[in-house]
Amino acid sequence: MNSEPRVALSRPVADEVRKTTCYMCACRCGINVHLKDGKIRYIEGNRDHPVNRGVLCAKGSAGIMQHYAPARLRAPLKRVGPRGSGQFQEISWEEALSTATQWLGHVRHTDPKKLAFFTGRDQSQSLTGFWAQQFGTPNYAAHGGFCSVNMAAAGIMTLGGAFWEFGAPDWERTKLFVMFGVAEDHDSNPIKMGIGKLKQRGARFVSVNPVRTGYSAVADSWIGIRPGTDGLLILSVVHELLRARKIDVDYLARYSNASWLVIDAPGTAEHGLFARDGEGRVLVYETVTERPVPLGTKGARAALSGRFELGDGRFVVPSFQLLAEKYLDPKYAPEAVAEETGVSADVIRGLAAEIARVAFDEAIIVEQPWTDVHGERHPYFVGRPVSFHAMRGLSAHSNGFQTARALHMLQVLIGAVDCPGAFRFEPPYPKPMTAHPTPHGKAEHFGSDKPLSGPHLGFPRGPEDLLVDAEGKPTRIDKAFSWDAPIAAHGMMHMVIANAHAGDPYPIDVLFMYMANMAWNSSMNTAGTMKMLTDKDPETGEYRIPKIIYSDAYSSEMVAYADLVLPDTTYLERYDCISLLDRPISEPDAVQDSIRWPVLEPDRDVRAFQTVLLDLGARLKLPGFADNHGHPLYKDYADYIVRHERRPGIGPLAGFRGTNGDRAGRGAANPHQLERYIENGSFFSAHIPLEAQFMKHANQAYQDFAVRMGFFDTPQPVTFQLYLEPLQKFRLSADGLREPVAPETHRERILQAFDPLPQWYRPFGEAMVDRESYPYHAITQRPAAMYHSWGSMNAWLRQIHAKNPLYVPRPICDELGLVDGDWVWVTSSHGRIKVEIARMEAVNSRTMWTWNAIGKRAGTWALDANAPEATKGFLMNHLINELLPPRSDGMRWSNSDPITGQAAWYDLRVRIEKAEAGAVSEPHFPAIAQPEPEPHPVLLRYGQEWAS
Ligand code: SF4
Repeated sequence: MNSEPRVALSRPVADEVRKTTCYMCACRCGINVHLKDGKIRYIEGNRDHPVNRGVLCAKGSAGIMQHYAPARLRAPLKRVGPRGSGQFQEISWEEALSTATQWLGHVRHTDPKKLAFFTGRDQSQSLTGFWAQQFGTPNYAAHGGFCSVNMAAAGIMTLGGAFWEFGAPDWERTKLFVMFGVAEDHDSNPIKMGIGKLKQRGARFVSVNPVRTGYSAVADSWIGIRPGTDGLLILSVVHELLRARKIDVDYLARYSNASWLVIDAPGTAEHGLFARDGEGRVLVYETVTERPVPLGTKGARAALSGRFELGDGRFVVPSFQLLAEKYLDPKYAPEAVAEETGVSADVIRGLAAEIARVAFDEAIIVEQPWTDVHGERHPYFVGRPVSFHAMRGLSAHSNGFQTARALHMLQVLIGAVDCPGAFRFEPPYPKPMTAHPTPHGKAEHFGSDKPLSGPHLGFPRGPEDLLVDAEGKPTRIDKAFSWDAPIAAHGMMHMVIANAHAGDPYPIDVLFMYMANMAWNSSMNTAGTMKMLTDKDPETGEYRIPKIIYSDAYSSEMVAYADLVLPDTTYLERYDCISLLDRPISEPDAVQDSIRWPVLEPDRDVRAFQTVLLDLGARLKLPGFADNHGHPLYKDYADYIVRHERRPGIGPLAGFRGTNGDRAGRGAANPHQLERYIENGSFFSAHIPLEAQFMKHANQAYQDFAVRMGFFDTPQPVTFQLYLEPLQKFRLSADGLREPVAPETHRERILQAFDPLPQWYRPFGEAMVDRESYPYHAITQRPAAMYHSWGSMNAWLRQIHAKNPLYVPRPICDELGLVDGDWVWVTSSHGRIKVEIARMEAVNSRTMWTWNAIGKRAGTWALDANAPEATKGFLMNHLINELLPPRSDGMRWSNSDPITGQAAWYDLRVRIEKAEAGAVSEPHFPAIAQPEPEPHPVLLRYGQEWAS
């Protein structure tokens, strides 16, 4: 479809059109906001914007109803009734900020770890993380731990980048696209546009997902896999590729650690680690001279198989030898995994054959000479046009890290990473794990009135980097980076309230949260979480979590549980920056970032959270926020965006830097930078030179470009880590062979899960319950028209999803005599819910599911207490505990991936029984008093009286 020449599709409705960035989900599309008489009349997609090229989804156009929602908070609030009652009194900003400063200042002077500062799906983590670091608490993270850290951590540790914000399929060239477990609102417009391109070109699209909705519904082939078994399916495909010798040996030898020699010395502290010479250089085995040589030795042809003896008597094997031995095992044969995965052997074999055929028989060439980081000139780029994409469905399991690793291993084996037609990195990625920091939060990293000595989040290289004390006890409230979850690269937000309530590992004083609906859909064990937030210490009569500060733009369920509410603006009323330092929006061919700006001034007594955070930082006299005299360094967030430098010449925005605005990436602060962005449609885009566009991990031109742009100060090429040595270090600690030795209680779990080569094991939540008593899976999907609970109050989006049935597969319905509209009890090992059902064909026959976050607590979001969301809507969360069932010794692990701590939302097993018809889903909680919302309109009409 040719988009030129452009035609006016609608008559002008506005006095003025302001271009900014959508925030109705996390895709960050460009939008044109049409204003008339000072009101929004219309939102359309910005056709010049590189993310969406004018495409707008239902959510994006409904931003108008988000902006005028009656659920908007109007002023700072102080709790005056019991926690959870929703009884508040409006207060001034001065009172709110003084109170917060007093609470936070006391903590900082006495014991900074008693502040837990956690944020939800905000996009200002570069600022919030910096603020928490300057405050000095070890307890900071955003929502990644309960979202998709398995994808991010596995991707970065294996490839130096992961799906979505770190890379994308080569939509223009791919011939086979295989997608695993992707919600239909994920990367929404870019994926829809990409799939459109595939369909136009006749490329094949395979979706692996237990539920056939959204993207899966338009796939050429749908594989309705059993939840939690994706890793087994992938390893079976790997088995078939190895058997057929359909792997790219040259690519493996050049770009992965397949040739690196692994020490074979069982029972020693070196077993399974890479062999290194006296200078610490990894060794490979040179096949011509038949001797071990340091990696990178000019002209060396490294062996990928064999077993060799080093001069000192130690035996070594190339890591690929271990890989091949492992996956050629018949236990990965398609017939052997068919029952567990619910996918027939023929389908698995067919998928493997199709991947091999397209990768090798339909290879493509891009005629562009390039030079690799070893100085070798190549006449062209070779493309293996098979691309993959995966997200939460694959990763939100307790085996999700290893599953995501398995998928990345598959990509590398066929040579399909950042070549034409494959998954391609988006700047500033790839970035090797070694270029990321280690986590900070050990006792020696913080103290009263001091900043933390480094960033909170990072990648431990081994057990020595864990954030534990001398006894092995966690130093963070969420227990991230402890033996519980050693590589919890995004923290474990889903454990904060439970641990703070239990005082384990210690009690806290202030819980400070932003945009995180933890009293409802963002928590497991929702009823238990609400109780934890309201529980009091019987001796002191004080709340167990003494002070809660919460910031949100809307009267979500969490607001009612705060003591102090800091009302945020809507996304159309504030400055934001979508930064390369944070969650980038680049494309494989271009470096990009963008801003939001106040296209409307707030008409309520609200302030942008980021500006409030800067104000609090200055009041607390935090370094980086106040000068030596205690004066604020920044007027507001806009000022910070322009003037803050993380490193000399590197600020939040890469575009229009330098005093003239003509520098990209590195450059002095430009006082007119935001004006330049606004003139440019609120985004900046710089194309990557042609020679640098592929093979970025090993492309000298790209590495030079990355240094020029300021992503790194020196080149950071990536060698793909198929064999992951840090995991082996943990296993050696668990075996008692390496210091620090793992505590006894953790050893078995680490030995089971920390295989340095990708593996599959049955998810814990499934393995620890009686499968006969709980014979079915229960999962959630996010609909295309809602982003978690963000559309809850949106008058237009509510017309699409105001309640959510439980979708039950036809065979189960037939067995239980269920028809559409019947009610059932759904029971897990943790709890039960009573809900209405709908029969469904296009779903794995052992899996029931519902839409996420549609059910609402009565009395919230300025909805009528009898709104369908509060009566027929429901949450699956009530069935999921944040802890696994007790072991034989009473010990309970968190319901998380044992490596990264990712919340295992989709490990849930249930049974169902027919119930009496009901009027209200159960559990049903008493209505919360609204925190003095704007008057509820009976009818909310587009373009007329918005809130009357
Ligand atoms: S996909 Fe839709 S909601 Fe998300 S940013 Fe783009 S237009 Fe907005």
